[in-house]
Amino acid sequence: MARIIAIANQKGGVGKTTTAVNLGASLAASEQRTLVIDCDPQGNTTSALGFPRDPARRTLYQALMLGEPIERVIIDAQVEGLDLIPSDKNLVGAAVELVSADEREYKLKALINPLREKYKFILIDCPPSLDLLTLNALAASDSVLVPIQCEYLALEGVSELLDTLMRLRRSINPSLAIEGILLTMYDDRTTLSKQVASDLRSFFGGQVFESVIPRNVRLAEAPSHGMPVIFYDIHSKGAESYIQLAKEVIANAQKRAGTRTERTDSGPGIAASAAAGAGASGTGGNNGDDGGGNSGGPGSGTD
Ligand code: ATP
Ligand code: MG
Repeated sequence: MARIIAIANQKGGVGKTTTAVNLGASLAASEQRTLVIDCDPQGNTTSALGFPRDPARRTLYQALMLGEPIERVIIDAQVEGLDLIPSDKNLVGAAVELVSADEREYKLKALINPLREKYKFILIDCPPSLDLLTLNALAASDSVLVPIQCEYLALEGVSELLDTLMRLRRSINPSLAIEGILLTMYDDRTTLSKQVASDLRSFFGGQVFESVIPRNVRLAEAPSHGMPVIFYDIHSKGAESYIQLAKEVIANAQKRAGTRTERTDSGPGIAASAAAGAGASGTGGNNGDDGGGNSGGPGSGTD
């Protein structure tokens, strides 16, 4: 049964697409069959996986708006164990056309729920906005992974975003959980990066992934070669960091599966207090099960 994870942040350029592509490839490389859904009309995930613009290609638009069977828009991402539902600029139309549709927030959910049997993970790359495409992604997901760039005012942005997610949880998806907050473009040579990482960890505790994505030129170069970084330069810091993240996501899924038999509720969602500790949020990485040390520094020693 796939876990469906939306990769979302309404702020642009924070590493959503880079995470969708590279976490997707790293999960597949760890023998976790994965589907990446490009839900952004920019189509960056599609091109980063090696599919340049092609008007003849069927995309998410056809499935979402024209009733094309979902199986017919899924393509093999040329990485073993990784599939892709591509996008292109037509998807802009969907964001507009959906406005007058019935059950407009739940179209994607209806479309992809039947795919849960086929995959271990389904990652949805969202556009940098809170439009109907993003709402559809969040309604269809079990959890949301929030990439945050380690920069000035990052903390303010995340708090706002989490407030928004809380509201969405009350309306469109009561069981939406936080998969984790991911620190991206971390530069250990700058005090600012360290400070931002440390602030985010002390504020959000166990909801922040242990794995940190460094600023790494290989990650920026790989998309222009149409391949995930693990195939472009497996020895780069960027590749290592996404492999680490995949391990953490898999471990959290296993932990969740292990505790599900003991618990009757669906576990903590967005409301789960940041200070509640790693054990509860399921994003505490290798913190063990007592959630003791969730303030462990600005990613120190993790990258
Ligand atoms: P958008 O909001 O436009 O969809 P995004 O959140 O998907 O953007 P990306 O496209 O993943 O962000 O990243 C923005 C830019 O930063 C890209 O050029 C990408 O290659 C680069 N980039 C992302 N992560 C890193 C990193 N860790 N190190 C260096 N460059 C990075
Ligand atoms: Mg993007």
